[in-house]
Amino acid sequence: MKLIKAEEIEFFYIFPEDDLVKEETTLINNPIMPENRVNLPMGRYTSKQLIETLQNGTDTRLAIFRINTQLPLPLKDGYDAYQTHSLFWTNKDINLKELDQKIKDDSYTDEDFRSAVIAHVQYAFCRHCHNKYIALVCDDVIYMYMYFPIALAKHISYQDYYYNKTGMIKIVRCPNCNEFIGLFVLRFFDKVEDGN
Ligand SMILES: [Zn+2]
Repeated sequence: MKLIKAEEIEFFYIFPEDDLVKEETTLINNPIMPENRVNLPMGRYTSKQLIETLQNGTDTRLAIFRINTQLPLPLKDGYDAYQTHSLFWTNKDINLKELDQKIKDDSYTDEDFRSAVIAHVQYAFCRHCHNKYIALVCDDVIYMYMYFPIALAKHISYQDYYYNKTGMIKIVRCPNCNEFIGLFVLRFFDKVEDGN
């Protein structure tokens, strides 16, 4: 794991050989956030196999983000201090093994992350055929919590940034009925419920 900064965002980049649960535990036990925090680790809720797939994919890696507490919005009671997510590169020419090395050498640039979007694993329900899947979905909400204050200071508006990122996504349709299911689905994994 290494703390890096790309596109103005600081986050912990997880290497393929890292032990995610161990890294999450280290961060959670050494909080940089106020008390009443709620962490959102991935390692305890997602299967080991899926974590490994995302951690070492040709177009995915894992990363732990810190939620920005300087939001100009009223905070609810309890918020996520750390959130583990997946990074998904929409540009398939990216070589993530090279990027791992560049990060170790500190020779990476913002350009390496330009086509990366933040995603998480969740259930994706198709209202057309009623199948339910585990899917990797772009986390459009996180941009609101993480990017807005920084983007504001960087002469690019949150909306521009958000639309730039989500505009890169080629949304995947339901593998059963080929309809859009209303989420930014990047990849479907296992089917967990059959609608028929
Ligand atoms: Zn469907």
